[in-house]
Amino acid sequence: MDAIATDFGIKEALQQLGVKDINEGTSTGVNNFSNGDVIESYSPVDGKLIAKVKATTKDDYEKVMQAATSAFKTWRVMPAPQRGEIVRQFGDKLREKKEALGKLVSYEMGKSYQEGLGEVQEMIDICDFAVGLSRQLHGLTMHSERPGHRMYEQYHPLGVVGIISAFNFPVAVWSWNTALAWICGDVCVWKPSEKAPICGVACQNIAAEVFKANNLPEGISCLINGDYRVGEMMTKDTRVPLVSATGSTRMGKIVAQEVAGRLGKSLLELGGNNAIIVTPDADIKMTVIGAVFGAVGTAGQRCTSTRRLIIHDSIYDKVKDAVVDAYKQLRIGNPLDENNHVGPLIDTDAVKMYQNALTQVVEEGGNIVVEGGVLSGEGYESGCYVKPAIAEARNDMKIVQHETFAPVLYLLKYSGDVENAIEMQNGVAQGLSSAIMTNNLREAERFLSHAGSDCGIANVNIGTSGAEIGGAFGGEKETGGGRESGSDAWKVYMRRQTNTINYTTELPLAQGIKFDL
Ligand code: NAD
Repeated sequence: MDAIATDFGIKEALQQLGVKDINEGTSTGVNNFSNGDVIESYSPVDGKLIAKVKATTKDDYEKVMQAATSAFKTWRVMPAPQRGEIVRQFGDKLREKKEALGKLVSYEMGKSYQEGLGEVQEMIDICDFAVGLSRQLHGLTMHSERPGHRMYEQYHPLGVVGIISAFNFPVAVWSWNTALAWICGDVCVWKPSEKAPICGVACQNIAAEVFKANNLPEGISCLINGDYRVGEMMTKDTRVPLVSATGSTRMGKIVAQEVAGRLGKSLLELGGNNAIIVTPDADIKMTVIGAVFGAVGTAGQRCTSTRRLIIHDSIYDKVKDAVVDAYKQLRIGNPLDENNHVGPLIDTDAVKMYQNALTQVVEEGGNIVVEGGVLSGEGYESGCYVKPAIAEARNDMKIVQHETFAPVLYLLKYSGDVENAIEMQNGVAQGLSSAIMTNNLREAERFLSHAGSDCGIANVNIGTSGAEIGGAFGGEKETGGGRESGSDAWKVYMRRQTNTINYTTELPLAQGIKFDL
C-alpha cells in the first residue's frame, strides 16, 4: 500500500474497507480462487496505484454461478420481511463505513468527496426503502368469471440477477439493484466497471460480512471482475434471467440483443443528453445554480449531467453572461479537498474525448464562450483534469446530438413559444433527464403534458442532475427504457404468477366452453 496517497486518509479508508494490495475480486466474498489476470486500478486524482484485483476466468465464473444458484435455494424461501431485516443490517453497516467508502469512491472515480458521501447515502436510502418494501410485495386479486373460484396474482423471485455497472456511480447503482433484488428473493452477481473495481471489492466485503454474521450463504452476493468479456459471460448465460446493465448506449445495444436472443430480460440504464429549457419567466439565479451544478458536477460525468441549455432569445445574453460569470469562480483540483468544485475525468481516454468534442464543435460552426483545456503542473499530474467549457451551438450539430461524457455545455437559442424549446429538447436520440426553468404555470404544465418532454425524468425548477431514490429512475429511447430504484421498479426483479383456485366440486371451463365426457 506504499504507492497510494497518504493524504486525505485514503490508506485508513482502504484498511477499514478490508481492501488488500491484491484482491481476489472474483470471490463471492470469502472464496479465494481466481487465477485471472491482474487489473490495476489507478486513481485519476493523483495517478497513483490504489490496489489490484484479479479478473474472472471462465472457471471462476462457473464457481460463482454454482455458489449463486445454490444460495438462491436458501434465500428464496426465507420470508421477505426477514430478507428485509438482512438488508436493514446491510444499511447499518453502510452507515458505519460511510466516510471510508465515500472517500474511496472519490479517490477511485474522481468525484468530489461530498458527492462520494452522497453516493453512499443513496445506498443507505435504498436499503431503508427496500426494508419497507419487503412487507409490500403485493399482487392484485380479481373476480373470477367462474362460480366458486378465486383468482389472484403473486410475485416470485426470479433467480440470479446479473448486474453490470458503469464507472461513474461505482457503488450506488449496484445497491439500487441489489437492495431490491435481495428483498425480492433474488441473488446477485455483480460485474463493476473495470475502471472502478476497488469500489466493488469494498462493497462486496461489507455485504459478505452481513451475510456471514447471519449464517447465510455467501453466494447471495457475488462479485466478478473484468471488462466486457466477463460481462458477456452473464449476458450469454441462460441461468441469469435478468441482466441489469448501466453504461453507454453502445454497450446497451449489444447487451439488449444478446439477452433478448435467449429471451432473457434486461433492464437498461444508458446514456443521456439532458437539457434545461430556460423560458422568459425563469428565475435566473436558480437557473444558474441548476445549470452549473448540472454541467460541471462529477466533471460532467453523470448520466443526468446537463449538456444543453435551451434559452429563449429574449433572455439569452443575460443567462449566457450569468453562467459564464459563474464558471469563472470554479475551482478545479483534488476532489478530496472540499475547496474544489471540479475533480478529474476518469482517465486520459476521457480527456481525449473531451478534447475531440471541443475541436468538433468549432469545426461544425460552434462558438466557444468559455475556453476549455487540459491542466498540467502541480496537483494535476494524473493528466485527467480539464477545464469545464461552454460553446454556443445548434441542436442539429452532430456533436450536440452525441453524449460527450465530460464538462462541455452547449448553449442553444430558441424563439417564440415553449413548444419550440420542447421540440429541441426532444430532438435527440436519448431520453433520460430534462428540466424547465419557469415561473409560468402554463409553460410548466405544457412541458409535463403528453406533448411535452419525452424523457423518463422531467423536472420543473430543478436541474437535470441527480434524482431521489423514491422515484423510478431511468429513461426512454436510446437511454434504454429501464426503471430502477423507487416506485414499483421492484416488479422487474420478480416473476408474476396468476393463480386460479376452484373450491367447488364442478370443473367449469373459462369462456363458457363445454367439454362433456
Ligand atoms: P461503458 O458502456 O463503457 O461500460 C459500462 C459497463 O458495461 C462496464 O462494466 C463494462 O465492462 C460493461 N460492458 C461493456 N460492453 C459490454 C458488453 N458487450 N457486454 C457486457 N458488458 C459490457 O460505460 P461507462 O463509460 O462505464 O459509463 C458511462 C456511460 O454510462 C454513459 O453513457 C452514462 O450516461 C451511462 N450511465 C447511465 C446511467 C443511467 O442510469 N441511465 C447511469 C450511469 C451511467
